[in-house]
Amino acid sequence: MPVSTDTKPYRIGRSKTGLGLFATQPIKKGVKIIQYFGPLLDSKNEKHDAIENKYLFQISKRWTVDGSIRKNVARYINHSCKPNAESDVNPAKKKIIIRSIKKIEPGEEINYDYGTEYFKEYLKPIGCKCEGCETKRKKKRAKLRAEKAKAKEKAERKEAKQAEKAKRKKDKAKAKKADVKKALKKAPKAAAGKVKAKVGKAKAGKAKAVGKKAKAGNAKSRKA
Ligand SMILES: [Zn+2]
Repeated sequence: MPVSTDTKPYRIGRSKTGLGLFATQPIKKGVKIIQYFGPLLDSKNEKHDAIENKYLFQISKRWTVDGSIRKNVARYINHSCKPNAESDVNPAKKKIIIRSIKKIEPGEEINYDYGTEYFKEYLKPIGCKCEGCETKRKKKRAKLRAEKAKAKEKAERKEAKQAEKAKRKKDKAKAKKADVKKALKKAPKAAAGKVKAKVGKAKAGKAKAVGKKAKAGNAKSRKA
């Protein structure tokens, strides 16, 4: 298979996780996009069995395709939990075909589900960056943010309510105080009037007494 992808409906390009394979032409649903290929490894062969890399694609208990060779352009296809293609394995022919499972638009990244084993071993530890998982994470984050905002709003409302209650209480106390002051303002006048009256009486009494003394004095001096 040629490395050149000029005549193919895809190209290698930058993706979120490094390189990826992107459609350059509309790809119909259910068509062969590319073959995933490489040397066949026999699990009965000790040398083969010792080979370990990310591009091993097991076709059967016995056979595995080592897709790490550069010519295998399909190895650029990234995993997605919500893919637009699938890996179609033919164990008898020992062939892996990547086939579209929906219509793929030009510019769209081509991906397929690598399977649970790969996901557990390579993707789960670092967090899957496929669009489906990113969207899920975004939704989760948005939900958390919304919940936080709601809680904050609730707390603020409660605080405002409490502040209003406190203010009402304060205002009530203030009004009561003002009433008392008002009452006190009226009351002292009456009290003060009484006091004045008493003072006036006392003064008058003293004046009378002084008058009597003076009269008596006058009387004495007249006698002398
Ligand atoms: Zn994912």
